[in-house]
Amino acid sequence: MKWNTIIGQDRLQRMLQRCILDNRIPQALLLNGFEGSGTVALALAFARTVNCEQPITTAETIVPCEQCHACKQSISLQHPNIRLITALPAKKKGETQDVPKDDVIMELQGAIHSLALDPYTSLRLANATSIRIAQIRELKRTLSLSAAQSGRRVVIILHAEEMNVEAANSFLKTLEEPNNDVTIILTTERPESLLQTIVSRCQELIVPPLDDSDIVQALVDRGLCDRDEALIIAPFAQGSLHKAVDYLSDDMRALRETAVDLLRTALKGKDYRNALTDAVQEASESRSKSQADAILSLLALWLRDAYVIARAGDGAPIVNIDHRAALERFAAAFGGADFPAVLQTIEHAHRDLARNVSISLVLLTTMLEIRRVFAATRLKDKATE
Ligand SMILES: [Zn+2]
Repeated sequence: MKWNTIIGQDRLQRMLQRCILDNRIPQALLLNGFEGSGTVALALAFARTVNCEQPITTAETIVPCEQCHACKQSISLQHPNIRLITALPAKKKGETQDVPKDDVIMELQGAIHSLALDPYTSLRLANATSIRIAQIRELKRTLSLSAAQSGRRVVIILHAEEMNVEAANSFLKTLEEPNNDVTIILTTERPESLLQTIVSRCQELIVPPLDDSDIVQALVDRGLCDRDEALIIAPFAQGSLHKAVDYLSDDMRALRETAVDLLRTALKGKDYRNALTDAVQEASESRSKSQADAILSLLALWLRDAYVIARAGDGAPIVNIDHRAALERFAAAFGGADFPAVLQTIEHAHRDLARNVSISLVLLTTMLEIRRVFAATRLKDKATE
């Protein structure tokens, strides 16, 4: 059986469940990977399982019952044995006390509530800068008392690399004095930014990126978009549901229409120049650099699909499945073109954008170059007709 709150990550689930079954629970775990790939979700599922009063077990698996008192507490993230530590906003000028202000506490409670509803929500406070020493001192104080409830205490430190120097040094001492009924789980996307002495005291587990198909399913299950849009977004998300959700707000479908429209215009007959200048103008207007990057990536993805069809035939697996008919027509017309050269041109364009060349100039030169490559195919075709 799998943890029903977790997307994919079968191998890690098996491994963590095995530790619990064998009663070989580590005292310090480092989950290294994107939060949007499930680092926090895995930590929470683990915490829930070790605190469940009547977990459901098989020879190989263990999952929480979701019925007992402890489960009810842990599902709403109200279990006294489960603690979350996350970075707080910087102290305002003149503010001396270490206790966060009421508005921060309110925001934190709201974020924890959202996390309880969906463990793939980010527990990130606005303007958060660091995990402070006061938070680690408070943690030590709590751990020095005996547990209020049976089970196992689990402390989850999110983005552990955000501990400031004082906090990290203080935390190291906590790790050096392990407590038998406590597991500390650090999550991080940048383990190299952690103190090496902290890393070496943890059992490190790599949390790999999610498969595209898992991201598609997760987006659809959450009602965030329809399957067609999810299929467009997933390849950009680098295995992180958070990144996929960020792309949703960018309306990838509209950006893809822009990309395909640019391509169509660039490949027009004689009068393409004015039309292309207008199309580039329109595509660049009020678009950010990252949106321009997305347009280029979507263009590359679309062309890659055409290339796949040109080589493998009409039934070939492609990303832009809702554009299959147009892609097949394109592949039929330009199948002999130098697609790798075109994709390389788009790579260059990404670099130019990173070097702050203007968006309209990058798009115009890229589309002209793409036209040149495809026009060469057309001429070749004519010659052999
Ligand atoms: Zn339970």
